[in-house]
Amino acid sequence: MAQSVPTDGIASGRLAPEEYRSRFADLHPPLSTHEAVVEADRCYFCYDAPCMTACPTAIDIPLFIREIGTGNPLGAAKTIFDQNILGGICARVCPTETLCEQACVREAAEGKPVQIGLLQRYATDKAMAAGKQFYGRAAPTGKTVAVIGAGPAGLACAHRLAMKGHEVQIFEARPKAGGLNEYGIAAYKAVDGFAQAEVDYVTAIGGITIHHERALGRDVFLSGLAEQYDAVFLSVGLAGVNALGEADAEARGSDDAVAWIAEVRQASDLGTVPVGRRVVVIGGGMTAIDAGIQAKGLGAEAVTICYRGPRERMKASLYEQDLAQTRGVAIRCEMRPLRVIADAGRVVAMAFEQGGETVTLECDQVFKAIGQTLVSGAVEDETPLALSGGRIQVDAEGRTSNPKVWAGGDCVAAGDDLTVTAVAQGRDAAESIHKALSA
Ligand SMILES: Cc1cc2nc3c(=O)[nH]c(=O)nc-3n(C[C@H](O)[C@H](O)[C@H](O)COP(=O)(O)OP(=O)(O)OC[C@H]3O[C@@H](n4cnc5c(N)ncnc54)[C@H](O)[C@@H]3O)c2cc1C
Ligand code: SF4
Repeated sequence: MAQSVPTDGIASGRLAPEEYRSRFADLHPPLSTHEAVVEADRCYFCYDAPCMTACPTAIDIPLFIREIGTGNPLGAAKTIFDQNILGGICARVCPTETLCEQACVREAAEGKPVQIGLLQRYATDKAMAAGKQFYGRAAPTGKTVAVIGAGPAGLACAHRLAMKGHEVQIFEARPKAGGLNEYGIAAYKAVDGFAQAEVDYVTAIGGITIHHERALGRDVFLSGLAEQYDAVFLSVGLAGVNALGEADAEARGSDDAVAWIAEVRQASDLGTVPVGRRVVVIGGGMTAIDAGIQAKGLGAEAVTICYRGPRERMKASLYEQDLAQTRGVAIRCEMRPLRVIADAGRVVAMAFEQGGETVTLECDQVFKAIGQTLVSGAVEDETPLALSGGRIQVDAEGRTSNPKVWAGGDCVAAGDDLTVTAVAQGRDAAESIHKALSA
């Protein structure tokens, strides 16, 4: 039973409390031990393991599956963490349907891959629940590295540097660590405060200090850090958002999807988050899908994702698109945004151009999910870093144009904007920094 159902506009509390719980419950509930062992038994332990080649962090997938199958989940967790210390969140958010599980030979043979993501979650959950730490720190090197941004790239880099005996000082603009794991990933993918639990697990190695609400370009500056520290790792993500430009209107209900998703993630009571009755989401990526599903989850009656191009060009995977549709979100393609229509300071409709015709969708909230950008002002300094396509240019080891500065994650040009890629780049940059500091 709904507590109160507003008839129009943007409102909170559209649903009864238990309704929020069920709509935002864990997307893929964890496997029991029995289920995990049965699933592990489906693996052929392929000698060439195409699943492993498809994993950006190159986890030894057949090995950890075998360990689960032989009743050794902690051994399996270590195999995962050796390559990917954020294996817990990756098990929850990786688009496995386009990575390891797509490459699995059982997918090709029978359209039913080994459920690698769920098995990875089973093992990493066991280790984290047991508080099992696998790594100690090497003897102190006396070197200190500044890491900017405590998202997946920064945390992976910090952990690997700490293992090598370096001190790490993280400067993080937000009040909480975790980056988009904490503020961006859909609420139903990381339930029960998982992002913070993982930050605690990763930093428990020691030698990592996080300074919150300390922003590069405001409180600390690149040239000063490069002087003060032995090396700097930039992992600031993409803190800016693309604007609709002239098509936009300054009106209640014209909202940035990423900021709204952060509000959903930080809400202690989902019933307090306002959402429109009829919602239009502009975009075709993961952010658009997540905004659409969560808006519907909060009780919006009609949610339509409008993408400017054809369906096959949408950045969101087919799995994500299907998920949105099964949750009651409509997806319309070839819809080019023309303008947000407002009346008396409130959004009332969104106009699109489709096949030469103007299509107007009545709505009271428009979420803009048309891409994020590097806030280059934050990384600009006396000696600006070389950029490429609006992001920081790095070599294969994550080195920037400044010999004391490395970068990784969404803020660099070489990436595909996934959590797992950010982790791989953070880890690899740490190895490169360690090599440089040991020379
Ligand atoms: C809505 C949404 C949903 C997503 N869903 C998925 C998904 O399901 N699966 C998936 O694989 N990927 C997903 N992604 C992408 C994934 O979250 C990113 O690729 C990943 O978080 C990148 O990690 P990062 O460390 O580079 O950056 P971030 O996670 O963005 O972390 C950057 C950190 O730097 C901090 N920072 C920024 N500027 C400064 C500054 N000037 N000074 C100091 N600190 C600063 C930020 O506060 C943040 O903590 C999603 C992204 C979004 C936006
Ligand atoms: S491809 Fe599939 S069956 Fe082969 S090792 Fe990987 S998970 Fe096992």
